[in-house]
Amino acid sequence: MKKHKLLPVKIKHGFAPVLAAVALLSAGCNRQSQMAPSTVQSIKTETEETSSVSIFAMDTIITMEAYGGEENAAIGEAESLLYKLDGLWSVTDENSEIYKANHSQGAATAISEETEQLVTFALKMAEETDGALNPGIYPVLKAWGLTTKQYRIPKEAELTDLLSYTDYRKIQMKNGDLSIPAEMEIDFGAVAKGYAGDLTADIMREHGVTSAIINLGGNVSLVGSSPDGQPWTVGIRSPYGEGNIGTLEASDCHIITSGGYERYFIGEDGKTYWHILDPENGKPADKGLISVTIVGKEGRLCDALSTAMFVMGKDDAEAYWKSHEGFEMILVTEDNEIYLTEGLEESFRLNEASQRIPVKVIRR
Ligand code: ADP
Ligand code: MG
Repeated sequence: MKKHKLLPVKIKHGFAPVLAAVALLSAGCNRQSQMAPSTVQSIKTETEETSSVSIFAMDTIITMEAYGGEENAAIGEAESLLYKLDGLWSVTDENSEIYKANHSQGAATAISEETEQLVTFALKMAEETDGALNPGIYPVLKAWGLTTKQYRIPKEAELTDLLSYTDYRKIQMKNGDLSIPAEMEIDFGAVAKGYAGDLTADIMREHGVTSAIINLGGNVSLVGSSPDGQPWTVGIRSPYGEGNIGTLEASDCHIITSGGYERYFIGEDGKTYWHILDPENGKPADKGLISVTIVGKEGRLCDALSTAMFVMGKDDAEAYWKSHEGFEMILVTEDNEIYLTEGLEESFRLNEASQRIPVKVIRR
């Protein structure tokens, strides 16, 4: 790991963290794709008031900023943890636990406690969302070339064949071992960053950090409020292009967005194909949503639901929200409407440029 020490930079309380969150939320896939997944960059800035770091892990740029308590120790520990999780869960690193499980031809492989918890959680969410979240979808993702950027449009028969290997109920865990059917491959891309956000925020709190903002490639985890005591202001990335559609004032929570604009290609037929797949048909999820933001106290839940609600579409997402606690959401439809659940009514603000988009509130 290479570290470039920067000269200490004084970060103005309150304002700078907001900009950092907004700027990174806007970065999207372009910035990600400029770096090879193996590139590790670490830029650390330390002052008396704040400690911040920017690293490349889990296939994305991660920035952390912490104030109060043992902030440097917290950042250092969080950084090590993120590299460790990357090493456990990467689908491309031959030494990762997930890679080994995917290439064991059906044999059981040993997994760590962290992986066991991630798999347990993802399987629970797969059940709860009726398979809208499916950790076994990876072979289909590969068929579209979405993992290698060798994009192609698979034929119906190929998709039908691949979908027969995606039954997540066949994933088994016993005595610290994981086994999956030989033809299946698993991928936790839809939940891993949210889970990492939870663990990172825990580390911050354990070290007495009073304010922290962790941005895992657009997944934002907030500890406390901003250092000036006001809520953090986090930009919600616009699905229409650069910039934000609006902002959310929030403290002590996770704000996680999934959208079709993050990783996609345009086929020879002129259509756009994105990286969130509908496990029902193996095609890019197309139930009328272009972006889903989930806000809640549990990062793993927010991440799982950002993907699952995108797959379900507005009506099913609304029904799911009405029958489950613990999260709020912002849905943007392809018909250019924004739906907010009532808990965000006071804290969400449309940006100047988005003023003409109608906002509707979903109530219980
Ligand atoms: P991102 O990680 O790009 O911010 P998501 O949290 O929505 O966005 O996760 C998308 C990733 O999850 C995809 O890149 C793919 O690896 C995986 N994936 C795609 N569709 C599904 C699905 N229906 N269920 C589970 N994982 C999925
Ligand atoms: Mg997700």
